Amino acid sequence: MDVPLLDLRAQYRSIKEEVDAAVATVFASQHFILGPVVVECETAVAAYSNCDHAVGVSSGSDALLVALMAEGIGAGDEVITTPYTFFATAGAVTRLGATPVFVDIDPESFNMDVTALAAAVTPRCKAIIPVHLYGRMADMDPVMQVARDHDLVVIEDAAQAIGAEYNGRRAGSIGDYGCLSFFPSKNLGGAGDGGMVVTNDAERAERLRVLRVHGGKPKYYHHVIGGNFRLDAIQAAVVAVKLRHLDAWTEARQQNARRYAALFAQSGLDGQVTLPAETDDRHIYNQYILRADRRDELMAHLKDAGIGCEIYYPVPLHRQECFAGLGHGEGDFPESERAARETVAIPVYPELSGDQANYVVEMITAFYN
Ligand SMILES: *Cc1c(COP(=O)(O)O)cnc(C)c1O
Repeated sequence: MDVPLLDLRAQYRSIKEEVDAAVATVFASQHFILGPVVVECETAVAAYSNCDHAVGVSSGSDALLVALMAEGIGAGDEVITTPYTFFATAGAVTRLGATPVFVDIDPESFNMDVTALAAAVTPRCKAIIPVHLYGRMADMDPVMQVARDHDLVVIEDAAQAIGAEYNGRRAGSIGDYGCLSFFPSKNLGGAGDGGMVVTNDAERAERLRVLRVHGGKPKYYHHVIGGNFRLDAIQAAVVAVKLRHLDAWTEARQQNARRYAALFAQSGLDGQVTLPAETDDRHIYNQYILRADRRDELMAHLKDAGIGCEIYYPVPLHRQECFAGLGHGEGDFPESERAARETVAIPVYPELSGDQANYVVEMITAFYN
């Protein structure tokens, strides 16, 4: 049996007619950059995220960058985030000349350890970027409390978390900005790169709209320096179609997670793998992450058995060569380092069949036996 980590072709087969028609409409219009299709997509994503405004941008990475730019963050400023995330979270900070300040993760949720947050704030700190990793939201109440206490901006990295909830509130709607990614492997993926910033602040939304067109307002008159952060109409058309299916896909991912929990409970394994922690919040399972004994050997075994699996992320950001200048060493963020050593993502995509899930758990059980 072959079980990929993600099967976008299966997804496309299920929505081919809708996607093809939406893309054909864009071609017929020959209006490829921004325009009415992008506005429609923005309106739909804003509503889905329970936000008043959404600004389509060129990627999730640029969503983070333009949100930081909208706050004027740059040289001399510090921004707090975690070292256990995709590179873009901290990359956006350093690209603007600011300094990422890391706090370790909570080992259960893989998200920012909020008990370590207040101690990381210095007079130079301007913002916090909580990351909702793997589709589970960070513990936002304490994040917002620290932000209020120290007058900090909160930029939610919701690239893996569209539609996830914290106490009933959607990802991106709690902080000052929420940054979404439409990278194809995200739960709501386009046909290439794309992203969006959601916000409940009209003035911030306007700043983002100006910055995404090189700061020109009106066109060719620049009071600020922005960039080309535009979303294109083909991405918006595809994303708008897929958004109509997102809740069904999320339910399928959650059902797969429940199936794994039941199968592992019956597997007879004795602590060799630890499943994702339960939560009452809406977890959208962008990834299903196991902590596993002898992780690398297990992965080799799964790959031999035709099962896709991957490490997110093998090197925490404080150990990346390009951040050597921050002066961190091994042991500085032990939970992030342990997660990088122990975790592996197994398939949880919506189209995964019951037979495939059975097979994955059988092969993991066989490995330890
Ligand atoms: C994917 C991702 C990004 C960047 O999104 P792109 O659209 O690939 O630029 C940022 N942060 C996190 C946590 C991500 O998973």
